[in-house]
Amino acid sequence: MEASVEYKRVVIVGGGVAGALLARSVEFHADVFLIDPKEYYEIPWANLRAKVEPDFAKRSLINHKDYLRNTRLVTASGVKVTEKEVLTSDGRWILYDYLVIATGHPYSIPLTRLERLQQFQAEYQKLQSADSVLILGGGPTGVELAGEIVVDFPGKQVTIVHRGSRLLDFIGQKASTKVLDWLKAKHVNVLLNQEVKLDELSEGQKTYETSNGTKVSADCCFICTGLPLSTEWLREGVLSECLDRHGRLMVNEHLLVRGKSNVFAIGDITNVPEIKQGFYAQKHAAVVAKNLKALIKGGKKLTDYCPGTTMAMVSLGRREAVAQFPFTTLIGRFPGMIKSKDLFVGKTRKEMGLEDGD
Ligand SMILES: Cc1cc2nc3c(=O)[nH]c(=O)nc-3n(C[C@H](O)[C@H](O)[C@H](O)COP(=O)(O)OP(=O)(O)OC[C@H]3O[C@@H](n4cnc5c(N)ncnc54)[C@H](O)[C@@H]3O)c2cc1C
Repeated sequence: MEASVEYKRVVIVGGGVAGALLARSVEFHADVFLIDPKEYYEIPWANLRAKVEPDFAKRSLINHKDYLRNTRLVTASGVKVTEKEVLTSDGRWILYDYLVIATGHPYSIPLTRLERLQQFQAEYQKLQSADSVLILGGGPTGVELAGEIVVDFPGKQVTIVHRGSRLLDFIGQKASTKVLDWLKAKHVNVLLNQEVKLDELSEGQKTYETSNGTKVSADCCFICTGLPLSTEWLREGVLSECLDRHGRLMVNEHLLVRGKSNVFAIGDITNVPEIKQGFYAQKHAAVVAKNLKALIKGGKKLTDYCPGTTMAMVSLGRREAVAQFPFTTLIGRFPGMIKSKDLFVGKTRKEMGLEDGD
């Protein structure tokens, strides 16, 4: 940084897909703080492969200090926002000129990279020693996990219990039907329109009863139901009025929080009308990076964010995938070639300025 320039302070709360990329994009244009309870960035779409191949996570868990060169890291959670400051869980008040909220989801995962790697190892051992596996939730996480298991461990009996009337209900019916057929061909037992109460689960449980009385035996169980949003912490401060009834932050076309001129929101917590995907969270980060650079230079013209289409891709093990494009839905090796081998880990690392190794 040049000593003669007075840098504006940009505080980013949340070091996930959107916040991490934004910090990297603006760290040489401002005095940047990144507040995140974890010491590392996790590429979320790689974490199901890591359950069947724990070493895969070595490339997808990246300490914040390894891709950020000029950002001050605050290892804590944001707990309150005022007009000028953010209060963190360790009692620090951090002043901001510009604030970006990127708190996505409140993952209950270890706070250090090493512990997270050990967690994947433990999950792998649990999986390896099981003959039967129960997956609760038939959204993208549950379906991708089932795909990983049936491809890597074809002998295991997998059951998916899903509350909805079709799998992958965030995308079109055609994709759901194709995936259901794919899973059935791999002998996955799919139970739709029923659920297992999460608060009744216990450690070491081997028999489960669904809401319509079906009994399922399983040596281990993975909870893959949707994660809540991490916006409850905003209810105390100046942004409480900016949350919609679903707990999403309302933003305008520049991704500025409604009614604010120096507070942006990016990623899954926004009310942008599009499916919630990391791919779009990265696009939010790119638009806000441009807007912050413009504002810092004293500019007035800001870039608009154009909401995404309903494009989505769900991997089915190491070679296949289902993809929904604007005009068609495909399943099999072709979409698999785009996503399933490396799960975009090399690409994401490159975007973070990292070599593709460990
Ligand atoms: C298993 C899985 C597979 C997926 N596959 C794909 C895929 O193939 N393609 C795709 O595009 N998307 C995929 N997604 C969705 C994608 O991961 C999300 O859309 C994306 O992570 C959203 O980014 P985000 O930055 O908004 O939030 P997140 O990535 O959830 O990051 C939020 C960050 O905020 C931190 N945080 C939370 N609360 C606080 C707080 N109070 N203070 C400070 N920090 C806080 C968290 O620790 C985290 O670091 C997948 C998701 C999962 C779980």
